Amino acid sequence: MKTEVISTVRMEDAGTTLGAELIKNGELVAFPTETVYGLGANGMDGEAVDRIFEAKGRPNDNPLILHIAKKNDVTKIWAHTPKLAKTLMDTFWPGPLTMIFNKADEVPYEVTAGLETVAIRMPADKTARLLIQKSGVPIAAPSANRSGRPSPTTAEHVLADMDGRIPLILDGGPCRYGVESTVLSLVGEPTILRPGAITREMLEAVIGPVRLAPSILNPLGEREVAASPGMKYKHYAPDADVHVVEGEPKPAAKRIRALYYDYEAEGRTVAILGTEQTMASYRNLNAYCLGDREDPESLCANLFRLLRDVGAHCDVILAEGVDTKETGLAFMNRLLRAAGFSRETV
Ligand code: AMP
Ligand code: MG
Repeated sequence: MKTEVISTVRMEDAGTTLGAELIKNGELVAFPTETVYGLGANGMDGEAVDRIFEAKGRPNDNPLILHIAKKNDVTKIWAHTPKLAKTLMDTFWPGPLTMIFNKADEVPYEVTAGLETVAIRMPADKTARLLIQKSGVPIAAPSANRSGRPSPTTAEHVLADMDGRIPLILDGGPCRYGVESTVLSLVGEPTILRPGAITREMLEAVIGPVRLAPSILNPLGEREVAASPGMKYKHYAPDADVHVVEGEPKPAAKRIRALYYDYEAEGRTVAILGTEQTMASYRNLNAYCLGDREDPESLCANLFRLLRDVGAHCDVILAEGVDTKETGLAFMNRLLRAAGFSRETV
């Protein structure tokens, strides 16, 4: 199959019209959102949804998110309306918040991986919304990477993983947030299953106490059941091994320098993912800046791009860990999984 790439910066109308035709025909389309690129199919067509799992190599017990173009579209895919939902939708939609509800009968089990619950999001990205609207159906979409790899934040990254596997990629340029949506379960106590740009602090300001799933910063225990099935799989892994050093900027940078020379002495090629606060300590070393520790959104925006691009050219990545407040939590959740929880604190 030939994979066509259309720039929606230049040809948004033509690109989304062609994309919608493909979606209506049961085919796959990769498209930009404000979080990461999604790999979409008609969310009401189980056979079309099966193609997503095939193209990604994703285990089919890992459910997908249904993307809608207007708030009212939820009524066709959820079974009942938790009271908090309306407040949350009015505050955070469109935007990077996915909510989990009991599903309507019409939602195929291919989307929910056999669960009675469904994950729903209304993206803010204009191209994404136009594509959904023209398709006339909710679009089921996971991130547009091969399963296990870092999520794509540019069309080039989608092409690297999906060339020849899907007919169309809509290229809207780099994604604004660079990490996937916050996943909040509203079935039972409000619980964050996956942290994202809509933070626990932001949610609590609107609806009061919100729990965090225990596996957000820890590997899933052997006997633990995954609240969000995606959490049990190896995730976000670049080509290189990743090791995380947590702590204050100065001691962390000192430890990373020492490790850098140790690995080099073993004949391995090393790269550092540092922060604005520490880059001066890595002069003359192979180091890249993730962003500003005081602005964790900047770290999120660069993480997956650097894991892919830097990871392709070295054996080991040494990365700085940061505080888990606000979007620091989303950053650490992804980084620790990319590292397979190889971590130390100085
Ligand atoms: P991705 O498609 O890569 O953004 O992953 C979608 C995420 O949403 C995965 O971590 C899924 O496990 C999670 N998810 C989707 N539907 C549900 C659901 N019904 N219950 C719990 N988690 C879900
Ligand atoms: Mg994913």
